[in-house]
Amino acid sequence: MIALLSLLLLAILVFFTRVLWVQNRRLQQLQEAVQSRQAFLADTTGDLPAWPGLTAEVNQLITENLQVNQQSTDQLAQLEVTLGNLREAVLIVDETNYIHLANRALRDIFPASRGLVNLRLELIIRHAGFLEYVRATRAGAAQPRQEFELVDGTVSTWIEVSGAPIPSPDGRSQWALFVIHDMTRQRKLELLRRDFVANASHELRTPLSIIKGYVETLVDGHATMAPEAREKFLRTIQRHSDRLNAIIADLLTLSRLESATPGLEFAPVDLPAFLQEIVEETARRPAAAGHQVILQAGDQVGTIQADGEKLTQVLTNLLDNALKYTPAGSQIITAVRALEAGGEVEIAVRDNGPGIPAADLPHIFERFYRVEKGRAREKGGTGLGLSIVKHIVQMHGGRVWAESELGQGTTVLVRLPRSQSGPASGQLKLL
Ligand code: ADP
Repeated sequence: MIALLSLLLLAILVFFTRVLWVQNRRLQQLQEAVQSRQAFLADTTGDLPAWPGLTAEVNQLITENLQVNQQSTDQLAQLEVTLGNLREAVLIVDETNYIHLANRALRDIFPASRGLVNLRLELIIRHAGFLEYVRATRAGAAQPRQEFELVDGTVSTWIEVSGAPIPSPDGRSQWALFVIHDMTRQRKLELLRRDFVANASHELRTPLSIIKGYVETLVDGHATMAPEAREKFLRTIQRHSDRLNAIIADLLTLSRLESATPGLEFAPVDLPAFLQEIVEETARRPAAAGHQVILQAGDQVGTIQADGEKLTQVLTNLLDNALKYTPAGSQIITAVRALEAGGEVEIAVRDNGPGIPAADLPHIFERFYRVEKGRAREKGGTGLGLSIVKHIVQMHGGRVWAESELGQGTTVLVRLPRSQSGPASGQLKLL
């Protein structure tokens, strides 16, 4: 009897252990289905009566959840297509700073990171102030617009950001939407302008303070001053007034070239004859007395469409430099040739003077850039000659560059198209 009871108890224990094991397994499967958002397909026949109802409810929830997610993905995709062609950059981030939308304009601002979507914002923009702005925007506590300078190594990107909080597609959390303007070009131009004004003021102040000092000395002491000293003072004043005059003339030239109506007048220019006149005129100048000034015109150079007056300024500036920066006895060759490809002509002004160090070469077309500051000023240079040259050449649709070897000489090359396809543009970038 006891043995029979024990057997029965054992059978009941085995039965319940099995039921528990099966239920536990079902619960695990249910948990996996919810975690992976996939329908719960376990066969529940023979299970507890509550299972079929629970399974149906869970599967319904999973399906609804998938539909909501799909809807929000579709909405974002739709939004991305709509915003794709906007010039303004648009960014949407969720409550944990994951990027859900980044249109093409935004990807243009951050070209290094091609795919932005699904990345954390912190990986793209590591700027504490910007990330704080994002947080404040979600909290509805940010200023409507703010500007940031993002520095990556030596490269700065300036952005102006306007943000607004938006509800997430499922309505359960707060996201944020940003419209971003790339301000880099404007800021760089402003910096260039600021530098330019500072440099120009400095350049003008130097001769002016020298003139002022000498004039004051003359006013106070002219009655007792020896005539030679007075003469020396007056000559110094004259030299520095000439310098002031030259700087102001070059500044006015640059400002005219940059104006909306630079007034270029294109006409056929017979290049060999034109260059011959300029080279002969240069050779006759007193400054060229000890120099050899030569023209070498290649075959088939012929005529180009150009503004003769502006082109004269280009050649005069280049020949002036060659005379200024080479010692007496140097050779200055102006060579012109027709380039077979592209219908262009190339004018080269070559000297065998001291040359320009490689480190300075890329900068000599910048305003007020001088290789040897003191010496260039002493020679009467304004530091603007080559930037005027570059402006004029670009307005003709050409390009200019310099090649040089220390101790061997310098060649400045100007390449110009033979004809002008469209009206000259006055809006050129600051050099
Ligand atoms: P600047 O009015 O001072 O001559 P530019 O803009 O014409 O200014 O030239 C910039 C600088 O480039 C000059 O100050 C000079 O140092 C250098 N440079 C230009 N041409 C030559 C040359 N032919 N040989 C040596 N240095 C030159």
